[in-house]
Amino acid sequence: MNYEELSMAMRTLDDSQKFFLLNNHFKPPIEYIFTSQFLHKCQRQFKARYLTDYKWMVYIPLLNGAYCIHCSVMIPISKRQNLGIFVNKPFTAFHKLDEKAKHHQTKISHRDAMILSETFCNSIKKPNEKIDTRFDEERKINIERNRHIVKTIAEAILFCGRQCIALRGDQETLLASDNSIKYNPGNFLAALQIVAKHDEILHQHLSHIGISNRNAKYTSPCIQNEIIRIIGYDTIRSDLVKEIKAATFYSILADDVTSHNREELAFCIKFVDRNKDIREKFLSFLHFPRITGEVIASTMIQFLQDVNLDLKKIGGQGYDGAANMSSDNVGV
Ligand SMILES: [Zn+2]
Repeated sequence: MNYEELSMAMRTLDDSQKFFLLNNHFKPPIEYIFTSQFLHKCQRQFKARYLTDYKWMVYIPLLNGAYCIHCSVMIPISKRQNLGIFVNKPFTAFHKLDEKAKHHQTKISHRDAMILSETFCNSIKKPNEKIDTRFDEERKINIERNRHIVKTIAEAILFCGRQCIALRGDQETLLASDNSIKYNPGNFLAALQIVAKHDEILHQHLSHIGISNRNAKYTSPCIQNEIIRIIGYDTIRSDLVKEIKAATFYSILADDVTSHNREELAFCIKFVDRNKDIREKFLSFLHFPRITGEVIASTMIQFLQDVNLDLKKIGGQGYDGAANMSSDNVGV
């Protein structure tokens, strides 16, 4: 039999055959000797540990290759054209098995097939339990799991913020579990890895999702920025603006800084809070199309209006000594 004949045969499975395959597929005994073949400059063969490491994997002796039993049995023919190895074709390049298997299990189609497969088997074993209920339960568990992960990641970002330490390191990659790779992954990823040692959900999340698929981990620089924006701008800043609004007057303080060859202004507010304490707080970095006194002034006014601060309450201004900031004629 070749893999095409196997694919054809899979098209016509009825429910009892699917159930049988999912539960009684070939499981090689301990003493089983896998066929060896010359591959990528040496003799290679399938290893028994793959079946323990990847519970969804089955070995087909006739084809000397591996399949995902759940995707092969549960994904309808109409949706599997582009799914390739493990689904439509056996996987035989064993020297790349770990890499490709980790990638396969990150696919949404695979996750759906796993849920479908479990639901299908349960519906046969426990026919009284409704499929809808099982799907709802899976969904709830998934939502709770994702909430827990995003909350932990947000806490790691807040931790770096409170300690005033940079989030990112030399490379945005998690360290290998044995710490064998010598580079600095940054404080944020390092903090997450410590938490993951004691948090099974986070540990599974970081290790089971493919290394190439960083967005799905919620740890990419892009997601870090998004979380900082939500926590910083949407939450912390809006609380701060409320406090400034409650003050009788406030002063604006601004100093220009150069970041990545771009001029920007660190914009701060000084005010007296409800407890009569003098507070000086950073509000935002402001960017300018041109650095003239006029442009800087109008950008600051626009920003204050955007955050709904009353311009009439400005009681003082403090700038550095540069001409465009404090000159009588052309200054801010
Ligand atoms: Zn699969």
